[in-house]
Amino acid sequence: MTTNPELLPIANRFATELPELALPWQAEEALDPRVLVLNEPLAAELAIDPEMLGGDAGARLLTGSLVPAGATPVAQAYAGHQFGGYSPRLGDGRALLVGELSDPQGRLHDLHLKGSGRTPFSRGGDGRAAVGPMLREYLTSEAMHALGVPTTRSLAVVATGRQVRRERDLPGAVLARVASSHLRVGSFQYAAATGDVELVRRLADHAIARHHPVAAQAANPALALIEAVATAQGDLVARWMLIGFVHGVMNTDNMTISGETIDYGPCSFMEAFDPATVHSSIDTGGRYAYGNQPLVAEWNLARFAETLLPLIADDQDSSVELATQALGAFRSRYGATYAAGLVAKIGFASGTEEAVDLGEQLLVLLGENHVDWTSGFRALAGAARGDAEPLRGLVANLAGLDAWLARWRELLPDAELLERTNPAYVPRNHRVEEALDAATAGDLGPFGELLAAVQHPFDEHPGLERFAEPAPPDFGRYVSYCGT
Ligand code: AMP
Ligand code: MG
Repeated sequence: MTTNPELLPIANRFATELPELALPWQAEEALDPRVLVLNEPLAAELAIDPEMLGGDAGARLLTGSLVPAGATPVAQAYAGHQFGGYSPRLGDGRALLVGELSDPQGRLHDLHLKGSGRTPFSRGGDGRAAVGPMLREYLTSEAMHALGVPTTRSLAVVATGRQVRRERDLPGAVLARVASSHLRVGSFQYAAATGDVELVRRLADHAIARHHPVAAQAANPALALIEAVATAQGDLVARWMLIGFVHGVMNTDNMTISGETIDYGPCSFMEAFDPATVHSSIDTGGRYAYGNQPLVAEWNLARFAETLLPLIADDQDSSVELATQALGAFRSRYGATYAAGLVAKIGFASGTEEAVDLGEQLLVLLGENHVDWTSGFRALAGAARGDAEPLRGLVANLAGLDAWLARWRELLPDAELLERTNPAYVPRNHRVEEALDAATAGDLGPFGELLAAVQHPFDEHPGLERFAEPAPPDFGRYVSYCGT
């Protein structure tokens, strides 16, 4: 491990303010680090020199072999409910927080390395990540960002030159991730489980300062924090639902305090609209199915609120009552974002009762006819411009659709709004798999083409039709695997 003062200025606020949750650690030395993908626009936003990142020093920095001066890389401790069962000690088993970068506006961003080797939290795992899953996270998080959904970002994927043992040997990689922080519901669960109320208070103060500073001025900051996190998550999950995103592993350790989407494992975009859609191989009960996501988020937030009860009031009953009230912010923000979003998805800037009703009617039609979520909504733009045939081609119940279209046209939907709201391109499972298979075999071409399409999801281009089409029937029911 070496340090280099000129590399990039980085702080160690989390490590110094919350040492109980931060275990100083160092990355496994990469054998032959090579940058596979670099997010130059993101580097520019963070005022980091992309040329440095793309070179030798960058490859070593982004795998943790080179530590910038002032940084104290740590493995973060957290707990979590996984599929409803509580694990008291999860933590970064294959990742390190390098520290916090400050952008030109003075905002802090975590620089985090995923796949950086074993840590004391690794349990039976090898601490490593394979190229495929790290490219999948890169692609999906950048697609989400382009779709306007709050998310962690991906700065780079760097091949380590090591082989990773899975069902077969795969090339290893590290994902350099940037997030407004890595504080999770599970971080609070871990702190609360120590029984040290002052630690929970320090963690809450840290979270408030970083993400929800107005809560500091409130009469009851802990309560205001619950409300702020519930609001941010209500907004986030509504946005997921509007684009057909299925997170796949909504464990409490995968839910942020900032309101950003985090940890893209077996995530996917729903094709035929069905609330029961689930793609994760380990989610056999469908706990994290598309249609369950709002309820699960609310359940997770209740676990978050429980950790703060001792800070809210002197007696437990009053704390519970106040916290429950504050959690109501989830439903109200979820409902507002979802309703406004659905109305925009059918082409209206404001939600009259008739527009809301039309939106709900369309959902029924799409569901009954198993219409592809993304193509169905996108085809509305054509219908608004006078060509309803592509949409009619997706729906079996034509009488129902035509009746709906007649009502809809009377309200004069805005074709441009439809095109700005309903993406043409999302990372479809069959295209993602194709791109990752090629990348694993050494060809990054298909990955680059897919990435370019999903980074501009609303701009349709001739030649990119294959990225807009649903999977062929022989692709079957898509299953993806996490933790790989
Ligand atoms: P995830 O499902 O990616 O959110 O991870 C859940 C937990 O498993 C976290 O504590 C991870 O650090 C840990 N984990 C996942 N994969 C590995 C691995 N290959 N080696 C060690 N720990 C891992
Ligand atoms: Mg996780």
